[in-house]
Formats: sequence, structure tokens, C-alpha cells
Amino acid sequence: NALPAATQSLVERRIQAFGPTSVLFYEKPLHVVGGDGVWLIEADGTRYLDVYNNVPSVGHCNTRVAAAVAHQVGVLNIHTRYLYDIVHDYADRLLATFPEGLDKVAFTCTGSESNDLALRIATAFTGKRGFVVTDNAYHGNTSAVTDVSPSSRPGGALAPHVRVVPAPIGEGDVGARLAADLKAAIDDLEASGFGFAGFLVDTIFSSDGVAADPAGFLAEAVDVTHAAGGLFIADEVQPGFGRTGAGMWGFERHGVTPDIVTMGKPMGNGIPIGGVVSRLELMEAFAGGVGYFNTFGGNPVASAAGLAVLNEIEERGLIANAADVGGYMAEGLRGVMGRHEQIGAVRGAGLYIGVEFVKDGAPAQDIATRVINALRDRHILIGAAGRYGNVLKIRPPLIFERAHADILLDALDGALAAM
Ligand code: PMP
Repeated sequence: NALPAATQSLVERRIQAFGPTSVLFYEKPLHVVGGDGVWLIEADGTRYLDVYNNVPSVGHCNTRVAAAVAHQVGVLNIHTRYLYDIVHDYADRLLATFPEGLDKVAFTCTGSESNDLALRIATAFTGKRGFVVTDNAYHGNTSAVTDVSPSSRPGGALAPHVRVVPAPIGEGDVGARLAADLKAAIDDLEASGFGFAGFLVDTIFSSDGVAADPAGFLAEAVDVTHAAGGLFIADEVQPGFGRTGAGMWGFERHGVTPDIVTMGKPMGNGIPIGGVVSRLELMEAFAGGVGYFNTFGGNPVASAAGLAVLNEIEERGLIANAADVGGYMAEGLRGVMGRHEQIGAVRGAGLYIGVEFVKDGAPAQDIATRVINALRDRHILIGAAGRYGNVLKIRPPLIFERAHADILLDALDGALAAM
């Protein structure tokens, strides 16, 4: 059961170099040497079906992205304070995917930087400091963003200016419940003197365990946000760029228009690029006179990657593909649920689906962990999410096909039957 010598040596070098900050998947970590579409290739040549990675959304080693990046590296790569063409080819294309009014963009390098900037914009515009988020949200790793990411604050102590609401998952009218909880949180922030700057949510609620239905449930909370003078910030790092199958952006499923949108992960298919889109008056309140400088954000190579990704999404019809394959997979998963009592719910939209494991009506993280390991043994890579770590997180590259979904469905069925 020992690791191959070369893999063991990498584990040791990693512990030596990174120490306690190292984060790895699996007890027997995967040593990957290549990628091909929806497949990841291990050092010994084993091919794994990738059901986990949303960053390479147009496929591992996508030839169009690779060619665009390689070309641009040879032409020019430079910090962002000069004029160059490709950033505007990209900015124009990106902004065209947004509703009217959302017509200013600032480029960053990561989702964390994007959310950090969104918090600064919201604070500058409203003059308030308080934010409301869901209770197991993750929005990134900067100091300010960690304050609004309860899932990365062990022990659960919240920053003084942050309030949480339960994720909109469960029985009944989730939209009305979310709006009422939000109203109470806002009242509390007002009473505490911080005031209310904004409501920040991942519009597919990834780390909360995936919440998608009924489409439109966010509308009431957005109304509450605006009535209280706050801003609605849509974190599109996970649902954005077509994943929900209902348009380019997750908020579109809810029929709402955010004040600020943040992006990252799949934007450059792995080349670091993120962004914040908002309206002129908000950007003005934040940056008027001083601007926003980010050395690498939207540099020529990042812009080339971003442009190639948009071309792939549009020309290969990947939003429709996410709807089709995602719908097919969700139906198949409901079939699996009918055969195995360990599954309590299947939730999601497009190619973001959560499968919740329960035992005696309670969240069952141990089942999720066993399924993840059993699927790895069957050469499928997948992860878990949710406050209790009991929700299987299905979010493969958007080029996933029905035949790939069948591989996952068979393997999940088999793994649960074998337990
Ligand atoms: N927002 C959400 C919803 C995320 O899932 C993540 C990353 N998991 C981030 C923001 C942060 O992105 P990054 O790791 O690129 O900083």
C-alpha cells in the first residue's frame, strides 16, 4: 500500500518546503503529470475522470488557450500601466455579457483579490462597514475576505462587522426565509453601529453545500438589501462563465442584477486572472482620483487567456452543454438516490451539482469521505462541500459529455452498493 518512490519523495519535499501551510487531497496524494480535456494523468499513466476541477472549464490543456497564451508570451507581457490592445479586446467582450449599467471592469489576479476589491468599493460607496454572508461561505484568503468567509474561521468566531444567515437550503420557502434572516442581520449591524454595506453571496452557494432552487429565490433578499441602502455583491467565482447552464452568470437564474460582480477561477482556464464588474458611480466612489493598480491583473497574457476562454465557451456552445449534460446527470443522480438511502438530496444547476449524504436524517460526512475514496479507486476525482462536509461536489470542466456522466453515475451506484 506504499506510495511509489517518486511520489513519496515529492510528499517529503513538499512537507520540507511548505510545512504546515501545505494542503493536499487524499491520504495517498495524486502525482499528476498531464491533462487532456476532462482527464488528468497520473505519473504511472493512469487516467482519472476529472469531476472536481472547475478552473480548467474549457478543458485541461485546451489547445486554443495554450496557443493564445504561448503566442502572447512571445509578443508582449508587461505590467498594466501602458496601453495595449488585447486587454480592450477582452474587456469589451467580457462587459458585453453583463446587463446594462454593469459596464466598468477592474482586473485582478484571483477571486480573493476580486472580493477584497468588492468590499472596498462597497465600503467606499455606502460609507458603512458591515457585511452579511452565508454561514459557511468561502470568499477567499486575504485578511479582509477571510473576515467574510466563516468556513475558514475555525472555531466559528465572526469578525465584529460581519453577520451570517443560514444558507437557503431545506424545506419551505427558502427565498422568504433568506430575506427575513437577512433583514434581522441588517438590523443587528445597524444597531451595533457598523451599518450595512452589502450582502455578499456565491450565487450557487458552493461551500454551503450547493443551493440552486427554486430559481429566483435570491430576488427577495436583493430587495431587502437595496431597501436597507446596501449593495448586492454576486461572487461569480464558482457559478460564473456558464457553469449553471442558464447563461453566463449565476445571478441570471435569479432574475436579479447585482451592484458588484466578482470573478476568478475559470476566467483564464488556469492562467491567473480575476475581475470586478460594477457601475460607474460605484467605481468612482472607490477609485476617484487614485485609481486601482494591480501589477499583473489583466496583463496581456492573462487577457489572451481570458479571450480564448470566452471564444471556447461561445463557439463550442458550452453553456448549452452545461444545461444538457448537467440536466442529464441530475436526472441520473436522482435515479441513484432512489436506489440508495445514503443520498438525502440532489441539488444544483447545470454542471454544478451537490449530492447530500445522510444517515438517520443527519449529515453523514463519513459516507462522503468513503465515496470520494471509492471513486478515486475507480479513477474518478471528486470532492465534498457543505458545513458538514457531507455534500459531494460535482463540477467538472464544462466540456463534460453525457458519456462522462454515465461513467460517474455507474461508479457512484457501484460504490454505494459496495458499502
Ligand atoms: N469565491 C469563491 C466562491 C470561491 O470558491 C473561491 C475559491 N475557492 C474564491 C472566491 C477565492 O478565489 P481564489 O482562490 O482565486 O482567490
